[in-house]
Amino acid sequence: MTVEYERRGPVAVVTMNRPEYRNAQNSAMTYALDAAFSRAVDDPEVKVIVLAGAGKHFSAGHDIGTPERDVDVSFERKAVLWWDHVGAEGGDQRFARESEVYLGMCRRWREIPKPTIASVQGACIAGALMLAWVCDMIVASDDAFFADPVVRMGIPGVEYFAHPWVLGPRAAKEVLFTGERFTAQQAKEWGMLNRVVPRADLETETMALAEKIAVMPRMGLALAKKAVNQAEDLMGLRSGMDSVFGLHHFAHAHNAEMSGGDSLGGQDARSMRDANRTS
Ligand code: ZN
Repeated sequence: MTVEYERRGPVAVVTMNRPEYRNAQNSAMTYALDAAFSRAVDDPEVKVIVLAGAGKHFSAGHDIGTPERDVDVSFERKAVLWWDHVGAEGGDQRFARESEVYLGMCRRWREIPKPTIASVQGACIAGALMLAWVCDMIVASDDAFFADPVVRMGIPGVEYFAHPWVLGPRAAKEVLFTGERFTAQQAKEWGMLNRVVPRADLETETMALAEKIAVMPRMGLALAKKAVNQAEDLMGLRSGMDSVFGLHHFAHAHNAEMSGGDSLGGQDARSMRDANRTS
C-alpha cells in the first residue's frame, strides 16, 4: 500500500509508504492520502489525524523521477472542478494538473475539519514541505531537515506558497534564495515547528500531543481550526497564494518556451539532489 491507515484509539495515523523512494509523492500517493484523510474525517471515533512517513525520511517531495511516476495517468478528480490534465498540452496541461493535485489538494487537506499533526523525520524537501505545512501542527525529530530548492529550476517556490506565512518574510527569502537545507532547530526558531524531539521519541511525542488534543470536543476543535485558518486567510495567505500560483506557472511556461518543452528548467531528481548535497 502506498499509504497505510491505522486507527489508534481516537487518533488516525496516515503513513506515506514508499520508503524505497523516500516517500516521493506521485499521484497514486496523493489520491491514497486523500482517501485516508476522508476515511478519518468520516469516522466519528477519530478526533485527531497524524501524517507520518515510513522509513528514514518523511518525504523527498513530488515524484519527478521514480519508475512509478504517473503524471500521465487520469484519476478521479477531488480538489477542483476543472478538466483532466491528461490529453491537454503545454500550460493547459500543467495548470490543470497542478491546480488539482498540488494547490487544490493542499487546500482541501488544510480544511480537514479535524486537527492534523505532521510527524517529520529525515528529509522534508520541496513538495514535502507542502504536506507538512497543511497540517495544523508539526512535530519534528532532531534529525529532520527541510529545503525548498525549486528556485534552482527558475521557479519561485513550491505550488502551495505558504512560505512568508509559515516562516516570516525574511526567513522565507533566505530559504528560497539559497535553496539550502535548514535544520529542525532552525525551523523551530523561525516558528515553523511546534516541537523538536529526539528521533527515538518522535512517535511517542506525536501521539502524546494527539491524545492531549483528542479529549477536547470535536466541534470546539473544528471551529477553533477554522477560526485560525480564517485569520491566516485574512493575513493574505489564500489570495497571496493565488497570485504566486500565477508566477509559478509563468516560470514553468518560460522554462518550457526556452528549453524545448521542459518546464523544470533542465533539472531532474538527480541534479536537484546533487545540488542539494553540495550546498
Ligand atoms: Zn509546478
